[in-house]
Amino acid sequence: MSQNQFQAYYKKSRQERIDILVNQQQITEDQGAFLKNGEGLTNEIADNMIENALSTYRLPYGLGLNFLINNREVQIPMVTEEPSVIAAASNGGKIVQQAGGFKAQVNQRLMTGQIAFTGVEHESQALDFEKWVAEVSNNLLAVANDAYPSIVERGGGAKSIRSHYYPTTADNASFFVIYLTIDTKEAMGANMMNTMLEALKTYILNHVDFIPGLEGLMAILSNYALEATATATCEIPAHLLNKGDVQGTEVARKIALASQLAQVDVYRATTHNKGIMNGVDAFVLATGNDWRAVEAGIHAYATRDGHYRGLAMWSYNADRELLTGTLTLPLALGAVGGSIGIHPTVQVTKSILGQTDAKSLMEIAVSLGLAQNFAAIKALVSEGIQAGHMQLQAKSLAIQAGAQGDQEINQLVSALEKANHKNLATASALLEKLRNI
Ligand code: NDP
Repeated sequence: MSQNQFQAYYKKSRQERIDILVNQQQITEDQGAFLKNGEGLTNEIADNMIENALSTYRLPYGLGLNFLINNREVQIPMVTEEPSVIAAASNGGKIVQQAGGFKAQVNQRLMTGQIAFTGVEHESQALDFEKWVAEVSNNLLAVANDAYPSIVERGGGAKSIRSHYYPTTADNASFFVIYLTIDTKEAMGANMMNTMLEALKTYILNHVDFIPGLEGLMAILSNYALEATATATCEIPAHLLNKGDVQGTEVARKIALASQLAQVDVYRATTHNKGIMNGVDAFVLATGNDWRAVEAGIHAYATRDGHYRGLAMWSYNADRELLTGTLTLPLALGAVGGSIGIHPTVQVTKSILGQTDAKSLMEIAVSLGLAQNFAAIKALVSEGIQAGHMQLQAKSLAIQAGAQGDQEINQLVSALEKANHKNLATASALLEKLRNI
């Protein structure tokens, strides 16, 4: 497989783009036909996925290009409604590819869930409970594993257990929380976790007789996936950022400054992270994973020291003229489970990616997030975001105004690019003019 096949991919027709994937045997002919026909999720499947289903709601499915991750070329399926996201990712990927690509690694891949108890009213009761949990921890892990034996057979299962007491609050409520950490192997693991937690909750309530008012409040997986993080890094020689009269060294210096701004200013940090999520969410959707879970975990991680901060960090070494980027994200992604095996387009995603184990998905997601952030702040500190963005926005406007077919759309896009005020009214007026020529 070679990236050369993907040169000027954006200039090709949709049919040609699909043919390239078929010719390279990244997807089957049937999958190619499936994409060409725009089939996607059927109403029948949708009706079995959610309640009160009416239909399906479609979003564009495209390909992020030029990614070299751990020395492997990867084309990244992305689902997004936003113009310029895929172009920016591919642009960021291309520069990093020229610099040797992304190095990505999964630091750990464990999930944590919690059982919250009330009725622990005194510090002394909490100490007794804590001691009991520590003493019988092996029994508790066995109870959890017995509740979901298939994950143990797959080499995973409950690994550790700990507890924490939250003493009485203003509303006279105190909580004793038990945290269970499990290796969910290739699954995100929400359901296996919840099954284990429910079993543990019942066992604990039946065995803790030294706290008379003990009550189980809830047992649920946590999306604060601190033990399922992946890190991507890249090193970019500043000369790769030269553009026209603009010196790459200047761009690199400003990218590092922009990342520092996102450490101290929450307004900027939020948008900095939104840029990262442009890529991460698009990939998480294309892989059939739970993007709300990923979003919740990542934003909580951004506040882990009590202050919401930008997640991707860039530093510039002026002596070596080298820009270094790094991003760590909690990414509880699964390769199986949930809707992953059900959604037909996810099967195409898996074919395109080739390597689809959970750890590879995490490495791709975090690299894509870093590429997306790099492309966004590079644009912001050099030409500004609006120039590139409006170019792509012009196409959406042309379609909204009613332009039809490639020729008319392209004519209208060219006319719109020259217009001072690019909005729907301008697009509609220009279209009328074009049609009357
Ligand atoms: P599933 O309930 O589908 O469980 C994973 C399935 O994959 C199991 O049936 C397991 O089989 C099977 N499997 C096959 N191969 C493997 C393997 N190598 N490793 C692990 N499992 C394997 O999905 P999850 O438990 O992952 O739950 C994800 C779903 O839960 C998502 O849809 C999510 O939206 C939802 N959810 C999320 C919550 C949250 O984020 N807070 C809360 C509740 C639900 P077997 O049983 O034979 O082991």
